[in-house]
Amino acid sequence: MSFSSLGLSKALLRAIDEKGYTTPFPIQTKAIPVILSGKDVIAAAQTGTGKTAGFALPLLQRLAQGPRVKSNHIRALVLAPTRELADQVGESLATYGKHLPLTFGVAYGGVKINPQMMQLRGGLDILVATPGRLLDLFRQGAVKFGQVETLILDEADRMLGMGFIEDIKNVMNLLPSKRQNLLFSATFSPEIRSLTKYLFRNPVVIEVNPRSSAAKGVKQWAIEVDKSRKPALLRYLLQKNSWEQVLVFTRTRKGANRLVQQLAGDGISSEAIHGDKSQENRNRVLADFKAKKIRILVATGIASRGLDINELAAVINFDLPQVAEDYIHSIGRTGRAGAKGVAISLVSADEVKLLSAIEALLGQTLIREVEKGFIPKHSVPLTRLAKARPKKTKTPTQKPAGSTVRAKAKTSPKNKKRYKRNDRRNQKS
Ligand code: AMP
Repeated sequence: MSFSSLGLSKALLRAIDEKGYTTPFPIQTKAIPVILSGKDVIAAAQTGTGKTAGFALPLLQRLAQGPRVKSNHIRALVLAPTRELADQVGESLATYGKHLPLTFGVAYGGVKINPQMMQLRGGLDILVATPGRLLDLFRQGAVKFGQVETLILDEADRMLGMGFIEDIKNVMNLLPSKRQNLLFSATFSPEIRSLTKYLFRNPVVIEVNPRSSAAKGVKQWAIEVDKSRKPALLRYLLQKNSWEQVLVFTRTRKGANRLVQQLAGDGISSEAIHGDKSQENRNRVLADFKAKKIRILVATGIASRGLDINELAAVINFDLPQVAEDYIHSIGRTGRAGAKGVAISLVSADEVKLLSAIEALLGQTLIREVEKGFIPKHSVPLTRLAKARPKKTKTPTQKPAGSTVRAKAKTSPKNKKRYKRNDRRNQKS
C-alpha cells in the first residue's frame, strides 16, 4: 500500500515524501479514503499510531478544493485537549499542507488572546483550538462559524476527562448542522459513545488497535516498591540503564517539581513540564528535550498527551495515573512509529486500586518485578485480574545481583477459563 493509492493530491504526496514517510500506517490506510469521501468518522486510535496525518491529509485535500475563507471565519475546526497537542497538530498541518494555499492557526488559553484575534481577522482555513479559548474568541466576535465544513475532535476521551463536555456541546451547537464530523479517541468510553450517537451521522467506525491496548513494541512491567523508596529506585534505574532519554510521569505538579529537586540533589539533572509552568517555559523545555539537550523530562499526566517525541527509549510512571486511560497515553510516548521501548511503572501498596483499573482496561495483568535492594516492606496486594491467575513469586536472591526478578503469573486451565470470563467483562465495561 502506498500513499498515492489513497487518492491524495500531488501537493500532499510531495509533502509526505519530503517528510520521509514511505508507507501509510494502518489508521491512515483506513481513514484517508473514508474522510476524503466526506463521511463522518469515529476512530479509536491512540497517539503514536499516525492518527494526525490520518485526518490532516484528507482534511487538507478537501479544503484545497473549496471556497475562500471570509474574514474572521474558519472552514475547519480541530478541538484538542491541551496546548501541546494543539501546537503539534498545527505543526503537522503546516508540514503536510506546505504546498497548498491554505492558512492555519492555533489558539489556546494561558497566553494573550490578542495575537490570536489578530490572526483570525483575515480568516483561517483551519483553526486548532482548545475548547475554552475557542469559546472566549467566539464571545468576543473574533471567530465566526458560518463557514465551518469540518469538525475534528482530537483525543476526545481526554477532552471529556478534563471536563470539556459542556464546552464541546456548546461549540457543536454553534456550528452549521451540515458538516463533516471526525472524532479520534484512545478509548471509546460510554460518554464518547453518547456524544457521537446524537451528533454524528452514520459514522464509519475505525479501530486500528484492539480496544484499549497499549502500543506495540512497548515492553511494559511494574516494579513493586515502598512509596518512600521510589526516588531512590528511580535514581538507581536511571544510573543502571543507559537510556538515551527518559520521560518520567508524576501524578501532581508538586510531585514533578519535588522529583526534579531530589534528582538534582543526587547530581542528576532533569526538567519538569506541567501546567504551572509558563507557556514559554513549556515550549522551551519541550524543544530542548526534542533536541536531546535534556535527558530526563519529568511531566504530569496532562503533559503526556500528544507529546510528539519519537523513539523514546523509556517511560517511567513514577506514580500510577489517577485515570486508567492515562496509562495508555503515558506509555504511548515510547515504542512509537514501530520503535521499541520500555514502560516501567513504580507501584506502591497504596496504588493497588489504580493498578487494578489499568489492568482491567488493558485486559491483562502487568508483569511485576522487584529490584534487589528495593524489596518492599508493604507488598502490593493482588489485583482482581491477578487473583484470577495465581501468582508465582520468586525471590531476588535467585538472580544475579542487579538483575530484576520477574514474577509473571502462570495460568492453570481452570484459571484460564476464569481469566477469559474476566476478559469478556472487561471488553464490555
Ligand atoms: P501521531 O499518532 O499522529 O502522533 O503520529 C506519530 C508519529 O508517527 C509522528 O511523529 C509522525 O510524524 C509519525 N508518522 C505518521 N505517519 C507516518 C508514516 N506513514 N510513516 C512514518 N512515520 C509516520
